Amino acid sequence: MDIIASPETAPFVNQRDPSRALGPDGKPAVSRRAPIWADVPDEKWNDWRWQLSNRVNDLDEIEGILNLTPEERDGLSAPDKFRVDITPYFISLIDPDDPTDPIRRQVIPLGRENEAFTGMMEDSLAEDRHSPVPGLVHRYPDRVLMLVTTQCASYCRYCTRSRIVGDPTQNFNRKDHEAQLEYLRRTPQVRDVLISGGDGLTLAPKLFESILRGLREIPHIEIVRIGTRVPVFLPQRVDDELCEMLAKYHPIWMNLHFNHAQEITPEVSRAVDKLTRAGIPVGNQSVLLAGVNDCVNIQRELVHRLVENRIRPYYLYQCDLVEGSGHFRTPVGKGIEIMEGLRGHTSGYAVPTYVIDAPGGGGKIPVAPNYLISYSDHKIVLRNYEGYITTYEEPLEYKQHDKANCRACQKPRPEPGQSGILGLLEGERMWIEPRGFAEIHERGNLEQHRLQDPSKWVPYGVGAIEGQARGALPVLESGNGNGLLDSERAATDTNAGLVEPGDLLSEEQRAEMGRPHYGPGEEPRPRDGEPTGSAHGELL
Ligand SMILES: *Cc1c(COP(=O)(O)O)cnc(C)c1O
Ligand code: SF4
Repeated sequence: MDIIASPETAPFVNQRDPSRALGPDGKPAVSRRAPIWADVPDEKWNDWRWQLSNRVNDLDEIEGILNLTPEERDGLSAPDKFRVDITPYFISLIDPDDPTDPIRRQVIPLGRENEAFTGMMEDSLAEDRHSPVPGLVHRYPDRVLMLVTTQCASYCRYCTRSRIVGDPTQNFNRKDHEAQLEYLRRTPQVRDVLISGGDGLTLAPKLFESILRGLREIPHIEIVRIGTRVPVFLPQRVDDELCEMLAKYHPIWMNLHFNHAQEITPEVSRAVDKLTRAGIPVGNQSVLLAGVNDCVNIQRELVHRLVENRIRPYYLYQCDLVEGSGHFRTPVGKGIEIMEGLRGHTSGYAVPTYVIDAPGGGGKIPVAPNYLISYSDHKIVLRNYEGYITTYEEPLEYKQHDKANCRACQKPRPEPGQSGILGLLEGERMWIEPRGFAEIHERGNLEQHRLQDPSKWVPYGVGAIEGQARGALPVLESGNGNGLLDSERAATDTNAGLVEPGDLLSEEQRAEMGRPHYGPGEEPRPRDGEPTGSAHGELL
């Protein structure tokens, strides 16, 4: 006989909670460590200070961890490259033999990183122009971006602030922080401060806390947000001490930056669990990057892993027009396709907002019809909330995502018959049409088509009371691309372009088909209480 354990005798172990995942040895799961660090004791490996001081940055060192390609060697030996520094934890997640590894592409430079491209700018968001004091970007009416350091735990090749980030000579110091706080004290319209950099969580804990305290002493500041990639590069930094410290300064929100599901390790799950337990709502901002995550299936997997860890996808950014990011750029159509593959296909919680950070500094603009003004084969024209109009230059070259070699594309979540518009974008089919649509066109009887469903097709208040038309409600079905578009069909059917109902069949032909013929004003209309055209939005 089976005995079901009662809650008193056996505590329930939630095996679905990723922060409690166990490894094969029954202890909390850990991710892979590159062999060169195999002998480092766990206390050191799990110490964020050890991780920071043992970062790797030079060619020889990295050569001992990854099998580098010639182009990576070029990238790593370029004399004036954007800073390279990678925590031992993060570089260990990379497959040493796979040059397309999505984590590798984010942190290991390629030779072509230095190539210029049309539209490229050093400060593409014009942040320096919007800074009343160094490091404080006041662009929006009620909120500011506060850059507190130029240092990060590791460096992303596509960094939007590569003009200052990573450069210790351009760092911000206590005096700058004080000037930033002084500006905020004098600027009561600011209710939201977004701490970023660089990465504030790489600062000495005392210094970071003094900035939070300084902000909390200003009564008009309602929320403080921390934009950080430390939990991704260095989850060891998120310890109880940090969470207790942050919780003293609530309301605090946090935005992380994951671009691929492979970055969400057991260490990350435990770190994020601690943050949420400290009462911090956690969001995520991803950047759309060619060769990393320019794929509907990769993005879907990413957002599913995020919400499973109670991280809310916030923004999906179009890659900025910044130096070094040329080979990461995708057309805007790729982002639209990804959004088409998320909305409705998965939980609303898992769907970020797709935005372009306006070149020239208009803020983040959603890629949505009311913001997208126009579109050519190489440029997008957008407007922001103020009416500021800007353009985004599309990449001239884009290497399409390699579906055949993408693990996520080879094993997508099945959605039988529900791919819808995404199926059209991906070329699975050419059109979607109502059931019976093709047959009606072949007989050329548009009137029959119109009368099949009286509640849908008969204008309100016109025609006979008693409906006689028969036929099922139109049902959408999909067609495979083996015929003409409906407009082309209509044109070839009549040779004249415009088709009037009833033009195409004679009285006799109609009688032969056993269908009723209605004179003008005799069409059936629904009885009282039956649905009318307005139910289908026809009056709009
Ligand atoms: C991103 C950003 C913000 C915050 O924008 P939200 O859309 O509110 O997240 C504020 N100021 C600047 C300068 C920014 O770049
Ligand atoms: S973590 Fe952010 S600021 Fe730092 S290098 Fe990456 S993108 Fe730039």
